[in-house]
Order: sequence, then structure tokens, then C-alpha cells
Amino acid sequence: MKILKFGGSSVRSSAAMQNVFEIVKKAIETEKCVVVLSAMQGVTDSLIEIGNLAANGDESFREQIKLLETKHFTAIRELLPIANQSGILSAVKIRLNELENLCEGIFLLQELSARTLDRLVSFGELLSSTIVSAKFSAENIANVWQDTRELIKTDSNFGFAAVNFSVTDKLISDFVNNNSLQLFIVGGFISSDVNDVTTTLGRGGSDYSASIFASALDADCLEIWTDVSGMMTADPRFVKNAKAIPNISYKEAMELSHFGAKVIYPPTIQPVMAKNIKVWVKNTFAANDYGTLIESVSAEKTEIARGISSINQISLLTLEGSGMIGIPGFSKRLFDALSAAKINVILITQSSSEHSICVGVAEKDADTAKTCVDFEFEREIGLGKLEALKVEKSLSILALVGDNMRNHQGISGKMFSALGHNGINIRAIAQGSSERNISAIIKSDDVKKAVNVIHEEFFGTASKQINLFIAGVGNVGNKLLAQIEKQTDFLRDKLKLSLRVVALANSKTIYFNEDGIAVGEFQISDSKFQIKSGVSLEDLIVSKNLRNSIFVDVTASENIAAGYEDLLRKSVSVVACNKIAASSKYENYSRLKDVANEFSTSFLFETNVGAGLPIINTLSDLVRSGDEINAIQAVLSGTLNFVFNNYDGTRKFAEIVRQAQAEGYTEPDPRMDLSGTDVARKLLILIREAGNKLEIEDIHNESFLPASCYEGTVEDFYKQLEVHEEHFKKLFTEANTDNRKLKYIASYKDGKPSVGLQSVDSKHDFYTLSGKDNAVLFYTNRYVEQPLVVKGAGAGADVTASGVFADIIRAAKI
Ligand code: ADP
Ligand code: ASP
Ligand code: MG
Repeated sequence: MKILKFGGSSVRSSAAMQNVFEIVKKAIETEKCVVVLSAMQGVTDSLIEIGNLAANGDESFREQIKLLETKHFTAIRELLPIANQSGILSAVKIRLNELENLCEGIFLLQELSARTLDRLVSFGELLSSTIVSAKFSAENIANVWQDTRELIKTDSNFGFAAVNFSVTDKLISDFVNNNSLQLFIVGGFISSDVNDVTTTLGRGGSDYSASIFASALDADCLEIWTDVSGMMTADPRFVKNAKAIPNISYKEAMELSHFGAKVIYPPTIQPVMAKNIKVWVKNTFAANDYGTLIESVSAEKTEIARGISSINQISLLTLEGSGMIGIPGFSKRLFDALSAAKINVILITQSSSEHSICVGVAEKDADTAKTCVDFEFEREIGLGKLEALKVEKSLSILALVGDNMRNHQGISGKMFSALGHNGINIRAIAQGSSERNISAIIKSDDVKKAVNVIHEEFFGTASKQINLFIAGVGNVGNKLLAQIEKQTDFLRDKLKLSLRVVALANSKTIYFNEDGIAVGEFQISDSKFQIKSGVSLEDLIVSKNLRNSIFVDVTASENIAAGYEDLLRKSVSVVACNKIAASSKYENYSRLKDVANEFSTSFLFETNVGAGLPIINTLSDLVRSGDEINAIQAVLSGTLNFVFNNYDGTRKFAEIVRQAQAEGYTEPDPRMDLSGTDVARKLLILIREAGNKLEIEDIHNESFLPASCYEGTVEDFYKQLEVHEEHFKKLFTEANTDNRKLKYIASYKDGKPSVGLQSVDSKHDFYTLSGKDNAVLFYTNRYVEQPLVVKGAGAGADVTASGVFADIIRAAKI
């Protein structure tokens, strides 16, 4: 004997019903079967809506009934041969007339009681099951259709009735066993009380009806047929790469469904578990897929965690106060008060100080809970021993489930640190003593992100998805996009990182696509993903709340740098090519670093000094491993290097500077470079990273530019360079006569930082520096005689982009 239950999705259309027919036809070849059917998908919801419309005096309920008629008639006409249609069409019509009469009554009385509502929703299952039964009859397959209200007997708790198993079991077994036919077809969900008044078993209750049949008949197995290929590691609507779980224990399945895995209605497991009846979850639309086998001990022992689920619309109730400590009975009174108000408690945690107790309940019950608990503790609240019940809304429960978790340490650590890295605040935690489930209460806005983060952490055979928001699509930005595109496969295969550029912004427009912008084909004029103006990129990042978000700043904008702190506080990593933040006031720089630490995220800016050269990382590795930086000497300006390498008095100094600007080495205003300001900012960052508190004004900067060069526009500046050609020629000749070369050097020695033009002799490390090369010498406790040298191209879009890319990967891997 086998019970097959088909959900609403499996009977949603004639095509789906045809699949049901094929599956059942095959099953009855070998054994006696009871087929339990849900209402066609959406019908129960429609019936409730119809009832509410009628009760509110809205006549449109009649049109809605008409729509239901069309839905069922269409299914019949498509499913059954024409010759067999009239009987079932008129049977359905009779039922719908009955439904309409009931609704007219509701309309007249303008009242919809729980009892009437149960009667109303019973039509869904009655209709679908009669249609499927008619299909078998039409195909000459003998079958018995039975109204389950005559078999499943319950109390009179309408909407959520409790089954009287002793009566029900006997009715079912007498009915089925005394009938020699192979096939029984019934509607799920519905039942009746002692007075034969219609009751229902709760939303999603057809699963439960099937389980009741399985248990009453001692069936060999129960099959739950739905629209997914089994119970999955997470809700597939949330997690794109959720996988079917081949084997799972009853208790795990119960826990997952209790915490929101809709695929099985929670009470379903109990009756079959008591009789050790196997349960299969199978896909009506892919009948050959393996599905999920639920049994007493899951055969599969390898996975630590089995699945993740979540429930929305949860409220957290907190009762706290010194009056609770050490006094027995408080929790009993709390739970008694909740239970008297018929409020179901989903989760409980109590701090070990006994100072507070938290319970999670459905949000719809929160206000009633507040009233009845405050009433229960009125005296204590009045005396100041307890505070009035605190209610927080818009929360969700996230649960990680697995029998095997109890044999492993560190599971909750792993779960909570993954949530922490993503800025997901945990309001309360509960772990059952069975250690089969760890649950956390979080904000509902964070659920999708949290489920995905935990899924990647525990079922992460696939890669970790990184969401990139990039500001600045100029030279460097474009090179970065090209590098990301080229490296995508490598990163996924080798580092298990799946980089996705979800947003791109220039100074005017933001482009966003949660599924990833195809950067290769992307044109900045693409209007497809354009976000309406008025939204800042920071706001977008926060509101989208995507997991593993990284903000990449390839601009030089002060405004954008001002937004870093808010992002870091949301645990969004910041990778900045922009130097403004790291070279701003020390207090700001150090706060950003502290905030990044506090929120377990990254603030990285390797390209602030020497473009793609590993300067800052080398420095922090030295410092972290206990070395001390005693002195730094560095050539840090590609522009100044270019200018002094090329200037020998034959071409004018102004001309060389113009060339540097034309080749893209300089800042938009070349004075930023020539004045030494840019070099000073870089030195400032290095000294700070070496562990010193320093402001830009503390750096001694002796300018080689005559004062008049600083006045006026960039064009005025070039004119002044021409006026002072002799001054530059003199600088060159003086150095050249001793066979020395001019270099713009940043140095830090004996605690004194300075930047300025120096001439170096042929033995100096900087003498041979050519083109746009940068070089940094670190003199440390470990590198005393010979400094540690980092040297190479220190400017250019390609190398800068590669430095930004390396920071992105570093941020992605934490
Ligand atoms: P039916 O109509 O067959 O009763 P339901 O809609 O009640 O189907 O349940 C199946 C749906 O449950 C799936 O389509 C899926 O979207 C959802 N679901 C939520 N969590 C899970 C999970 N962990 N595994 C499988 N499905 C899940
Ligand atoms: N039709 C009912 C519901 O939608 C029962 C079920 O489908 O399991 O809740
Ligand atoms: Mg269901």
C-alpha cells in the first residue's frame, strides 16, 4: 500500500494533472494506492479572498467565483475526452452553485466565521479531487472517490483542527481495507468534527492528510509529489544554487519544515515517523529525479549540516528585570499567559543571569501577547521589579539544521561569524539541546542575504559570490573591468570566488543589475540598468543589502570618500584607489580602520602608494610580524620621475611637463604633483601604516617651483614655467656637473618626514630609476644595512587596476 499526495502545483493545470495521471497509473500496477490531492494552485487563496469580499459587502465575489469556474472547466476540457466531460462538468457546476449560495449567505450576513471559512475553503480540494477521479474513470481505470470529511475526524478548532486519531484510523482502515479496488482518490486538507461540521487541518494541510492515511493504513511508503526535486538545502526561491537533499532523517525534516521549509507541512512527519513509514519527496514535473528520502536515520552521514530554513513575520518578546533573578515560576507564568491566549511559541532563549527571557512568536500574535503578559505581571511591573514586555517586530528566524552537527565543534561559531562578516546583526540565538538546530533571530530585511551567506558557508561546493559596486569608470575603472572579465573563470575554479559587478557609476549615472552587469559588453550609455537619479551609490549598496558586498572607489572624489564609514559600518568592504580618505585627518583615517575592524570587514588602499606595487601590504606584513620601521626613502611620483628623467635643458621644462600631462601621468592639475603634495600624501599614508600618528602639515615640503607658479589657472602655471626656464636649467646643470641626477624624494628618518628635490650620485638606489618607476626603501630592525626594496612601475592605468583587483580579492577572501 502506498499513499501519493499531489500538491496544488501538481494539479495547477490540465498538463500537470496529466503528469499526475501517468505517475499514479504506473504506481497502481504494483500496489494499492491512495491518492491525496490539494486544491488547484491558488484556489484556496482565492476562496479566502472570495469569502472576505462577500463578508465586506463587495459584489465582485461573484466574478471571482466565475473565474474559479473557468479555471476548473478549462482543466476538465483539456484533460478529459469530450465524451466524458459532461458528467464532471455538471458535478463541478453543482458544487460551484453550492459555493455561490454559501457566499450569498456570507454577503447577506456580512459575516465570515472561522467555521464558515472552513466550509468555504473545502471546495478547493473537493473540486480538484473529483476532476482527477473523473480522469481515471474516463481512462477506464476503476477508482473510488471519497469525501475525506467522512474519514478524518477532528475537534472543532476551525482552521487548525486537531485529529482524533483513534476514530480516524479506524474509519480510514475500514473504508480502504473493505474495498477491493486498487485506487482511492481523495481531497486533502479537509475533515469534520463530531457534529459532521467541516473543519480543516491548517494551510498546507494536505500533506498531513496524506500522512494520516499512511499511518492509518500502515502504508509501505508515503510520496509527497510537488514542484521541486526533493527537500532542498535551502528555499530555492532564495538560494539559486540550493541542492536537493537525497537523504534526511525524520527529525531533521521536521525541524526544517518547522522553521519554514514550505515543501512539507510540519505536522506531517509525526504520524509516519511513529510508524517508521518512509517518505519520499518527488517532483511531479521531473518524476525520474531521485528526490528526497525521509527515514528514521539518514543514510548520508557526510554532511555536517543538512539544510537551512527561515520564517518571516516573527516578533521577539523580551521580559526582563531584576525581579526575575533566582525566583522560580516566572517563566511558567509567562508561558501560561501565552498559552492561555493560544499563542504559539516558536523559539525561547534565556540569559544565564536569568535577568531576561526572550521568546519568538508570530507577528500576528505580538500585540495580544503584549496585552496578556503585561496583565499577568501587572503587579511586578508596578513595583518596578520587571519592565513591561518589550516587543520587536519585522524579524525572522533563521535555522541551520542537521543531526550531525552535534558531533562537530565550531558550527555555531562558523555560522555567526559568517553572518557577522556580512553585517547581519543577531537579535537572539537558540540552540535546541538535541543540537540538531541552531537558530538566530535577525531582521527580516537581512533574511535573503543571511540564508545565502550560510548556504555558501555550509554547502559551498559552488563558489562564494562577491558583489562589486564600482564608482569611477575612467581609465583605471575600464582596465579593472577588463581584468575582472578575463579572470572570472580562473577565480571561480581556483579560488571559488564568483565576482559579479552589480553596479557601475560615473559622476552622473548609476547602473545596477543584481544578476551582474556583463562588463565586456557594457557601454556607459546603456540605459537598460540605469537607476533613477537622486539615489547615491552608498544608499543603493545599503538598500540592496547583498551578501559579500565590496565597494570599489576608483574616483578622486571627496564626496565619495566621505561615504566609506557608513558602508564599513554595514560590513561592506571598501577598496579605494582614491587617496583622500587615507590621507585625510589622522582621526578620520584611524576611525575608518577601527570601524573596519569592528565590523569584520576590509578597508584596503594599496594603490594609494605606488599604484599596483605591493608597498602598503609589504609594510603591514613587516609591522604585523613585529618589525619596526626606522626609516623610509622613496621615489613615489611617476610624474616627477618622468619629468626629471627627461629634462636635460635641451627641451623646455614646460614642454616636458605638458608631455607628462598628455601621456596621463599627472593629476588634472599638474601642480598637485610638481608641488610635492601628492608625494607628501603618499608618504603620510606610509608613515601612518607604519604605526605613527601624523598629519600632512607635519611633513616638511620644500618646493622647487617658484612661488608664482602656484597662482592662477593651469595655463597660467605653464606660462610661469616658461618664464622660469632658467631656474630649472640651473637645477639640472648643478646636479649634472657632479654627474648626479635629480630625484624627487620622500624620506622619513629619526621621526622626521620630508619631501623635496635631491640630487643623487651613481651609487644611490634611485640613480638608475627610469621612466615612471617608483621605489621604496624600508630600513627596519630586520633590514638594517641593506633596506628592503620595492621597485617597479608606479603609475599607469593597467598596473593601478591590477592593484585594485588584488585588493578586491583580498577583501573577498576574508
Ligand atoms: P505543493 O503545491 O506541492 O504543496 P508547496 O508550494 O507547498 O507545494 O511547497 C513546495 C515549494 O516549497 C517549492 O516550490 C519551494 O519553492 C518551497 N520550498 C521552501 N523551502 C524549501 C526547501 N527547503 N526545499 C524544497 N522546497 C522548498
Ligand atoms: N489547499 C490547501 C492550502 O492551500 C492545503 C494544501 O494545499 O495542502 O493550504
Ligand atoms: Mg504544500
